[in-house]
Amino acid sequence: MPARGRPPRAWTPTVFGLTVLVAAAGCARAPSPLAPQASGSIGSPNHGVLTQGAELPKTGPGWVWLRNDDRHHGIPRFVRAIERAATKIAEERPGAVLSVGDLSTRSGGALMPHLSHRSGRDADLLFYVTTLDGAPVTSPGFVHFGPDGLAWDPDGKRFLRFDVERQWLLVKTLVEDPEARIQWVFVSRDVEAMLLEWARARGEPADTIARAMDVMLQPKPGGVHDDHVHIRTACSPSEIVRGCEPTGPMRAWIAATDAKTEVTETTSELLLAILGPMGGARVPPDPKGVLASDVEAEP
Ligand SMILES: [Zn+2]
Repeated sequence: MPARGRPPRAWTPTVFGLTVLVAAAGCARAPSPLAPQASGSIGSPNHGVLTQGAELPKTGPGWVWLRNDDRHHGIPRFVRAIERAATKIAEERPGAVLSVGDLSTRSGGALMPHLSHRSGRDADLLFYVTTLDGAPVTSPGFVHFGPDGLAWDPDGKRFLRFDVERQWLLVKTLVEDPEARIQWVFVSRDVEAMLLEWARARGEPADTIARAMDVMLQPKPGGVHDDHVHIRTACSPSEIVRGCEPTGPMRAWIAATDAKTEVTETTSELLLAILGPMGGARVPPDPKGVLASDVEAEP
């Protein structure tokens, strides 16, 4: 019973509250590509599809596709975040170009040989590399770096050096970008160690290093990731309403940002989206659990 004289507290929808509500609703009504309300990133990274995505341009200020194909589509804000990060690094440390591997196809769905990359939330980014003399060169592809920061390039028949400075700047830029909502940076333990050692030696902000430590992981199974990073974006609350299925841990700094964000849609619109008839076949849950659902096969 409310205290006398105090009006009952009005329910003010917050993004955090809606996320919880939607997550609960999602248990009974998993998103489906057949559901008319669903759009954007639908389902999970390893069972989903993509509508209304954006294609990363073939080249731009600081990036270039590794291969000329239809595998560079993603959630528009995620694609923009990759563009922003590559552009920033090209401006701050000119001379290098980010080589971009697979994102998702235009409509998402299965993308061999990956286990994920299905719903516009994943991207493979080749490492920034230099020659042994330190001259930046565009990555020739998936060359494997060891703990000494060197990789053999079989095509160029030369050793390449891991460009820890630019690579850290990429990780830093992504985890500090609120629109990127970086949930995972899959990368080998050796590369992670090099990046963190560099960041600490440079006196980078503790909060940024903590975020990087949270998201960097050598996945198992899914490949060592000593030849590229795989980044994944977390669903936003409005994307969850439209069918994006959250998997894996919610990062504290992303949740904190969401909690402060005012909901722009009206309550009725959101409730309709959350509780309205979704129909369609249920997307089966991943039986292997969080980590297995988050990783991929070797590219
Ligand atoms: Zn990947």
